[in-house]
Amino acid sequence: MIVLSNNGQLTDNGQLMTTITERLKQIRAQISDAELACNRQPGSVLLLAVSKTKPAEDLAAAYQAGQRHFGENYLQEALKKQQELGAYAITWHFIGPIQSNKTKPLATHFDWVHSVDSLKIARRLSEQRPTHLPPLNICLQVNISDEPSKSGITLAELPQLCEQVAKLPNLKLRGVMAIPAPQDDFEQQRQPYKTLYQAVANLKQPSLDTFSFGMTGDLKAAIAEGSTIVRIGTALFGERDYA
Ligand SMILES: *Cc1c(COP(=O)(O)O)cnc(C)c1O
Repeated sequence: MIVLSNNGQLTDNGQLMTTITERLKQIRAQISDAELACNRQPGSVLLLAVSKTKPAEDLAAAYQAGQRHFGENYLQEALKKQQELGAYAITWHFIGPIQSNKTKPLATHFDWVHSVDSLKIARRLSEQRPTHLPPLNICLQVNISDEPSKSGITLAELPQLCEQVAKLPNLKLRGVMAIPAPQDDFEQQRQPYKTLYQAVANLKQPSLDTFSFGMTGDLKAAIAEGSTIVRIGTALFGERDYA
């Protein structure tokens, strides 16, 4: 199988392809099992491949195995990979912390932003979204475990920010994203997602159709509580090396 190497050149990389194809198959099976286990409609949960720190060749391998949605956390790194993978029909999601002076490339080069946590950021994204592109899909990040170190709005701030962001012309407010504090216990993993799901349901806005819930460690609990997008990195691409 031909994939992109680190320097963007085409190369044979059968082993990488085999590994990533196999892992993708396992993750898709886990998602289907979880959908089935809680009577969710088959196919109602989208797999977002989280590729931060991973080279373009890993994304190319996943793409060739059928993966289309990719999530990135670091803007410069993401823009570089977007260039390397320019020939691929990828839907790009930004899921990392947002600096307000970096909103223009986000508005220009992504299809989704999951990590919006202020009206200021949302306004800039709307103003800077090129008009020839469809509205930018937005999730508001909610700090559901109230961790002081984590970004995201509080649950109490959610109704007002939803109302304000929904009015911005070049954005399409789709729902919420959460990264709860890690828990080993399945029932404890479910709790924060349940709370946030209910809070969104209480807003009675049918256009909010997206719950960006769940990572490698809590995918099943997230799907049980209504996730529509699971963001999976480690299970697909292996451990990350930040060195
Ligand atoms: C890194 C990251 C993920 C993927 O986490 P894994 O545990 O590797 O699956 C998901 N969501 C966000 C916001 C991330 O930063």
